[in-house]
Amino acid sequence: MTDAAIVGTGPNGLAAAVTLARAGLSVSLFEAADTIGGGLRTEPLFDQDVVHDICSAVHPMAAASAFFRRFDLPARGVRLLQPDMPYAHPLPGGRATATWRSITRTADHLGADGPRWARLMGPLATRSRAVVDLVLSSQRTLPPDLLTPLLLAPRVLAHATTRTPFTTEPARALLAGVAAHAVGKLPSVASAAVAMLLAHTAHSSGWPLPEGGSARIADAMAADITAHGGVFHTGHRVRDLSELGDFPLVLLDVSPKELLAIAGERLPSGYRRALRRFRYGPGAAKADFLVSGPIPWANPLVRQAGTVHLGGTRADIFRQETATATGNPVPDPFVLVVDPAATDPSRVAGDRRPVWAYAHVPNGDTRDLVDLIRRRIEEYAPGFTDTVIASRGLSAAQYAAYNPNYVGGDIAAGAMTLRQSLARPTARWDPYTTPLRGVYLCSASTPPGPSVHGMCGHLAALSALRRHGIRTSPDLSPQKTELI
Ligand SMILES: Cc1cc2nc3c(=O)[nH]c(=O)nc-3n(C[C@H](O)[C@H](O)[C@H](O)COP(=O)(O)OP(=O)(O)OC[C@H]3O[C@@H](n4cnc5c(N)ncnc54)[C@H](O)[C@@H]3O)c2cc1C
Repeated sequence: MTDAAIVGTGPNGLAAAVTLARAGLSVSLFEAADTIGGGLRTEPLFDQDVVHDICSAVHPMAAASAFFRRFDLPARGVRLLQPDMPYAHPLPGGRATATWRSITRTADHLGADGPRWARLMGPLATRSRAVVDLVLSSQRTLPPDLLTPLLLAPRVLAHATTRTPFTTEPARALLAGVAAHAVGKLPSVASAAVAMLLAHTAHSSGWPLPEGGSARIADAMAADITAHGGVFHTGHRVRDLSELGDFPLVLLDVSPKELLAIAGERLPSGYRRALRRFRYGPGAAKADFLVSGPIPWANPLVRQAGTVHLGGTRADIFRQETATATGNPVPDPFVLVVDPAATDPSRVAGDRRPVWAYAHVPNGDTRDLVDLIRRRIEEYAPGFTDTVIASRGLSAAQYAAYNPNYVGGDIAAGAMTLRQSLARPTARWDPYTTPLRGVYLCSASTPPGPSVHGMCGHLAALSALRRHGIRTSPDLSPQKTELI
């Protein structure tokens, strides 16, 4: 049995640990914070009976990725609750647009652009698993078929510039709101790829919320690791690799900046320079609210949505995101809002419930945006302010202090540019390896990048196993847990 140390217990550190433990390795996990989970933490903030997702809240990628398909969250008791309307987008003048799981229903709603939406999304949704597996890959393997890249590439290119095949504002804004999840300059090839990936999953595996909050995903992963002998050490920020002793394998769920700090002079100078060139993207400023009722969206359509995008028109979103990415704060930043109880009734306690929201801001921004975000919601939901019982803001700078992986508050762990989608964090054939024997990087700063899909950790663990002579991919299914 080989020993492996995992530094960081975000979804990627946990996915790496699951994969290694299921391959028969003995794993020890080290986490800087007092609780495990990284971007998968759910905690009470104001009232013991109401829990808030501190980072991620909605999980299209956990519903779709190859790692989580094999890990099988539902079979482990994690209920992925699916809003019938994955996302909505209020527009100026009280109008609103939205998508439903059904492409036909969405197309009917979009009127003149409906057939275009159906032609754009339909073929991707039909082959959703292949599309997801192509995008959520190491970007180093040949696609298993040619049809999927042939479907995806022209769609990405058609939406990667200011030109758009859509003729109506609702369809234009709807897709721009999804492209903004790339958190960077708009339009771009990388954001168009993110838009195609996310938008089509609304019509296939969905944009679910785990019942009870995102931490239920981390709990399920931790249970599997513990059942296979893994040991957690929380409250231990690893500041130097030497602290870890003699582990033949070390997998780091950390940022390139942290890798530089903890491996330091051991790394060859060329690799250190390459890590220093890695660019971080804009930050996130969070607002958590404890409220006394559902968000009173002016347009009733929006009340059914899992996620709400507040950015206005496509032109507005492009302006907000591009200014933010170039370091210029805007008065009307792009805001994502989730009222979890609209999908998960278990999140309501009496008449109290959480509201989760964050705005895109320049990297390193120190402003508390809780009031700005409240006003932004109020703009589309008059009366929202009257429902707020308590609130808390976390600036981008505070996010960086909360989690060293969010450099400057960059929750994507590195700017999502075309170059950095491929050379993430540096241009190496195996992006999970480092020049140090046995030391691997497995965070969202490696391909395929941010989101809760576990693929960076899973692929890094498979790379480590291969280099140590284990070529078969371990069974990750829950049945195996029960047998042991
Ligand atoms: C506000 C916000 C909203 C988001 N919304 C969503 C969403 O709705 N859906 C979605 O899919 N994704 C969302 N994300 C992104 C998602 O959370 C991340 O992409 C994902 O968590 C990255 O996983 P990771 O394992 O690479 O790193 P992380 O989850 O960041 O975990 C890294 C862990 O490593 C620990 N660590 C770092 N350095 C050290 C060290 N030296 N020693 C010990 N421990 C260390 C950290 O404390 C942390 O616990 C959101 C993120 C934020 C912040």
